[in-house]
Amino acid sequence: MVMDLEKCIGCHACTVACKSENGVAIGGSRTRVLEQEHGTYPETSRFFLPMMCNHCEDAPCIKACPNKAILTKENGIVDINKDKCMGFQFCLSACPYGAIYINPDQEPDDYVKDYPARTLFKADKCNFCEERLEVGLDPSCSNTCPADARLFGDLSDPNSKVSQLINGEKLTGLLMEEGTKPQVYYKDGRPDIFKVSKAINNK
Ligand code: SF4
Ligand code: SF4
Repeated sequence: MVMDLEKCIGCHACTVACKSENGVAIGGSRTRVLEQEHGTYPETSRFFLPMMCNHCEDAPCIKACPNKAILTKENGIVDINKDKCMGFQFCLSACPYGAIYINPDQEPDDYVKDYPARTLFKADKCNFCEERLEVGLDPSCSNTCPADARLFGDLSDPNSKVSQLINGEKLTGLLMEEGTKPQVYYKDGRPDIFKVSKAINNK
């Protein structure tokens, strides 16, 4: 996924779409949009930073889980095996992006079958809406974004939407210095993206 920060208008449609698609509990989130204000009135501006699991190539959450409940699938998606997760929360501490939460809600079995995000006391996070990808749809957040600020696709295909968006520009990721090799890329229209991501990290 590529985030185009110059296009994001901070409407949070992506966060709502994600919750709706995945049945995410109140109090949990698979994606967030952080805000930061700059300047002094009347010369002010607001900066929006959409964030989610970065599906890291070298994912610290995978290393931290004593039950091996987090895995990288063949398609590159970092996913949580709910059957193996014991809710120890080591992954929450290990993730520098704050992308994992523990589901706090008890739901009827039928509901949990359709929405595994609601498995009580299990870790949950973005899975790139894998069930949508399997039937040729974009992830719900990308599909919903009215500004085309979150584009999903194949960077190795020069004709894909993401390749055309980037148009040969250099990409950045959040907290690159952590060595996690994040797979969510940012078309960096703002020089202070790293400062913002550091602030998130310290929350
Ligand atoms: S890809 Fe799907 S699960 Fe991940 S943040 Fe977007 S809507 Fe949520
Ligand atoms: S839906 Fe798009 S424009 Fe709105 S907050 Fe999310 S990324 Fe930004």
